[in-house]
Amino acid sequence: MAEEVAAVAGELRASFRAGRTRPAEWRAAQLRAIVRMVEEREGDISDALHSDLAKPRMESYLHEISLAKAACKFALKGLKNWMKPEKVPAGLTTFPSTAQIVSEPLGVVLVISAWNYPFLLSIEPVIGAIAAGNAVLLKPSEIAPATSALFAKLLPEYVDKSCIKVVEGGVPETTALLEEKWDKIFYTGSGNVGRIVMAAAAKHLTPVALELGGKCPAIFDSNVDLHTAVKRLAVGKWGCNNGQACIAPDYVITTKSFAPELVDSLKRALIRFYGEDPLQSEDLSRIVNSNHFCRLTNLIEDKTVSQKIVYGGQTDEKQLKIAPTVLVDVPLDSALMTSEIFGPLLPIVTVDKIEDSIEFINSKTKPLAAYLFTKDKKLQEAFVSNVPAGGMLVNDVALHLANPHLPFGGVGDSGIGSYHGKFSFDCFTHKKAVLIRGFGGEAAARYPPYTTEKQKILRGLINGSFIALILALLGFPRRDRR
Ligand code: NAD
Repeated sequence: MAEEVAAVAGELRASFRAGRTRPAEWRAAQLRAIVRMVEEREGDISDALHSDLAKPRMESYLHEISLAKAACKFALKGLKNWMKPEKVPAGLTTFPSTAQIVSEPLGVVLVISAWNYPFLLSIEPVIGAIAAGNAVLLKPSEIAPATSALFAKLLPEYVDKSCIKVVEGGVPETTALLEEKWDKIFYTGSGNVGRIVMAAAAKHLTPVALELGGKCPAIFDSNVDLHTAVKRLAVGKWGCNNGQACIAPDYVITTKSFAPELVDSLKRALIRFYGEDPLQSEDLSRIVNSNHFCRLTNLIEDKTVSQKIVYGGQTDEKQLKIAPTVLVDVPLDSALMTSEIFGPLLPIVTVDKIEDSIEFINSKTKPLAAYLFTKDKKLQEAFVSNVPAGGMLVNDVALHLANPHLPFGGVGDSGIGSYHGKFSFDCFTHKKAVLIRGFGGEAAARYPPYTTEKQKILRGLINGSFIALILALLGFPRRDRR
C-alpha cells in the first residue's frame, strides 16, 4: 500500500512541479468542471447520500449539493482578484522599493474528510485547494462508502486527474497517506484522530488545518419569539442529519423557570415536523452505522440519564433510527454531558439566571459554534464579547456556515485554521513577501565601519524622519564615499 500511495503522491508532485496547476485558466477550468459535475450528477450524489445516511433529499440539496455549487461559483468569481499580488506600502527604511504579497500555491495537499456531510466536506476543501493552484489528493470517509465510491468514479471523469486524485480507504490507507510528505493536510473529523494527523504532519513540518468538533451550546432565553426560535432550534438539531452535524446544538441552556415552556414548545414543533412516530419519518436521517447507533443508545441507557427523558427515546436498531430525544437536567458528569453527542439527543441544562450560562460554557473547551436565542441586546453583546467559539449565531442555528464572507473553523479543541469563500483560498496559499529594489538610493550609513553619525542617520530613518532619508540618499556621512 505504501508503494501505491507513494506513486500517487509522486505523480501529483510531478504535475505540480511541471506548473500545471498554477495558471488561472487551469484553476477556473477545474472549478467549472466541478460545477458541471454537481449539476449533471445531482441525482447520483443525492442517491449516495441517501444510501450512506438515509439523508432526506431536501437536506442533501440544501446542505451539501447547493452549498458545494455555491462555493465553486464564489471561487470562480473571486479567483482573478484573489490571485493578484497585493501591493503594500514600501516604507522609508527600504526606500526606494516596491513591496507586494504574492499568493503562492503550497504544492501537493491532502484532504481527509468525514462521513456526516460526506459530499460537501470533501469537495469544499478540494475547491479551495484548486483555486489556490495546488495539486490535491482527496481521501473521503470510508464510513460513507457510497459517497466515497462516487468521488472515486466521478472526479476523474470531470477534472484533470493528473493533478486531482482520490484514494479511498479507512485507517490503514489513511495511515499510509500520512507517512508521505504533503505541503498541507486538511483534516475534518474528531479531535482524537486530529491528534494523530497533527503528530504525523509534525514529522515533516507539514502545516495542518483541523476541522474538529465538540459540544456546541445553545443558550435559550425566555425573551424570544418562542414559536420561531423553537422551530429554528429544532431544525438546526434534527434537520441537520438528525444531529450528526459538527455545528448542531449539542445541548441547550435555559433557566429553571423557563424550561417547562421550552420543552412543551419543542415537543409541539417535533410532532409538527416528524409526526407522532418519528421513527417512520422520511425527513430524518438514520444513524450512520451500528457502532454509532450503539454509542448513542449507550449514552441514554443509564437510569440516571434515561429517567430525565421528557420527549422521544424510541430506537429501532434494524433501521438504525433514533427518534429526536429531549432530556432535562441529566447529571453533568454523565457521558451525555462530557462527550460530544453527535446524534439526535438534546439535553437541556437549567441555570438560575440566564447570564450564568456564559460561565457554564466557558468552564468547558471552546466550541466550534455557540448559539444564543434572545431579544435582549445586552445579553447578545455579553455573548459575543465573552464566549470564545469558532463561530457564533444569534437567534438561529447553523446558518453562519452558509455565508462565504465568514470564516468557518474552530478554535482551541474545536480546530485549527478556517476555510469557506476566500478563506479557503488563503488556507491553501502561502503569502510570499516580495520586496523589489533597484540599484539607486544607496544609503552609505548602513555599511560598516559603524560610526555615531551613521547610527544617527539610521535611527532617524527608522523613526520616519524625512531629513534622515534625504541625508541617507545624499550619501551622508560623506567621508565614507570612495
Ligand atoms: P470519520 O470516522 O469519518 O473520520 C474522519 C477521517 O479520519 C476519515 O477519513 C477516516 O478515514 C480518518 N481516520 C479515522 N481514524 C483514523 C486513524 N486512526 N488514523 C488515520 N485516519 C483516521 O469521522 P469522525 O471522526 O467520526 O467525525 C466526527 C467528528 O468530526 C465529530 O467530532 C464532528 O464534530 C467532527 N466534524 C467536524 C466538522 C467541521 O467542519 N469542523 C465537520 C464534520 C465533522
